[in-house]
Amino acid sequence: MKAHHQILIVGGGNAGISVAAQLLRQNSKLDIAIVEPSEKHYYQPGWTLVGGGVFDINSTVRSEADYIPANVKWIKDNADKFEPESNTLITGSGGRITYDYMVVCCGAQLKWDAAKGLRESLGKNGVCSIYSFNTAPYTYECIKNFNGGKVVFTQPGGFNKCGGAPQKIMYLAADNFRKRGILDKADISFFTGKPGLLRVKEINELLLKVVKRYSIKVTYQATLKEVSGETKEAVFEVVKGDSKEQVTAQYDMLHVSPMAAAPDFIKNSPLAVKDDPFGWIDIDKVTMQHNRYKNVFSLGDVSNAGDTKTGAAVHKQAPVVVTNLLSAIERKSLTDLPAKYNGYTSCPLITGYGKLVLAEFDHDNKFLPTFPLEPAKERYSMWLLIKYLMPWFYWNRILKGKS
Ligand SMILES: Cc1cc2nc3c(=O)[nH]c(=O)nc-3n(C[C@H](O)[C@H](O)[C@H](O)COP(=O)(O)OP(=O)(O)OC[C@H]3O[C@@H](n4cnc5c(N)ncnc54)[C@H](O)[C@@H]3O)c2cc1C
Repeated sequence: MKAHHQILIVGGGNAGISVAAQLLRQNSKLDIAIVEPSEKHYYQPGWTLVGGGVFDINSTVRSEADYIPANVKWIKDNADKFEPESNTLITGSGGRITYDYMVVCCGAQLKWDAAKGLRESLGKNGVCSIYSFNTAPYTYECIKNFNGGKVVFTQPGGFNKCGGAPQKIMYLAADNFRKRGILDKADISFFTGKPGLLRVKEINELLLKVVKRYSIKVTYQATLKEVSGETKEAVFEVVKGDSKEQVTAQYDMLHVSPMAAAPDFIKNSPLAVKDDPFGWIDIDKVTMQHNRYKNVFSLGDVSNAGDTKTGAAVHKQAPVVVTNLLSAIERKSLTDLPAKYNGYTSCPLITGYGKLVLAEFDHDNKFLPTFPLEPAKERYSMWLLIKYLMPWFYWNRILKGKS
């Protein structure tokens, strides 16, 4: 194995493959390696629609080998330790790889163990989640087989992958019950760790109407602490003013959205924001360059570029990393990088079958709409976009570095 590469990319998910493919489109002579342990590549946004019974789970996975660009060296190993002072990465199997430049984009870990009993309860007795390849199909089983009773959905405070996904699956479930004429038999509760439904005021107002339409009871600032699969109880800690109280919710179906954090090997590395409990990589949110190790860049879920972890954000961040990296190589300078990320993220909020609000905004909650349309509106056209266009766009354009 060659032990030195001009550009070393850690993680071959949405961000890693996008960056590698875009770099090579601009300069085919670059020497690039990707460290990625997985043989499979997942289209994670598809898991919400798997949970809603719209997609087959097998349509969301493909072979990683088919998406590692030709001319990129694939190091099928996991990154384990960083020694950025000596431009070295140590892999799980003990390999030492040095680099001129490094891009770290190894995604987030999901904290299934943050709630006691959750991991053991998941995937059976009505406890489901769209947040993994293995449990997304069971979510639809639960929805399809539900004939009345108590349904509980959760959203963590702090970070979660795709801020809207915990609600999208809830609205799909409610709409499924409505279509089957059993919505009045469903007692639906939403426990969210956040103080609102979405941080953009106009979209929050619209979502308040959606929860009313489905008669969903919302409890804010509620964190899932424990799941008892035996007694079918979910225990939440709810912040009420200056105090906290424990609330136990009985369920027949429980959908859990776990909290996201940086993987431990990132959190415990010199690349992480110091003393950040989530451990995200410490980058400049505009240039995507590491704040201390200037030949290191990061993007995607593992970076501290924003609080909404989305592929849509990756789509805007990747060209910034690519331009700044190429500029650094050409100018032999790591200062005055030209490209800037504007904080864009997007949340395609499914509010029912055939209904979607495309919320696109920045760090300051300012709308950044791609289409010249009123953003705070449910639309059938946007549903068609995510159902038909987006998966094709992901596999054929984004991962090929063409968009
Ligand atoms: C249920 C769900 C719904 C979503 N819906 C949407 C949506 O509607 N719209 C949207 O824009 N986004 C959505 N997202 C979020 C989107 O999928 C992520 O933001 C995006 O995949 C982030 O890209 P990434 O490259 O940072 O991470 P990932 O795509 O997760 O890739 C990380 C890669 O790093 C690899 N890796 C892990 N550990 C190591 C290691 N030690 N060494 C080397 N490699 C490693 C992994 O194997 C993986 O290939 C959703 C996510 C989920 C789970």
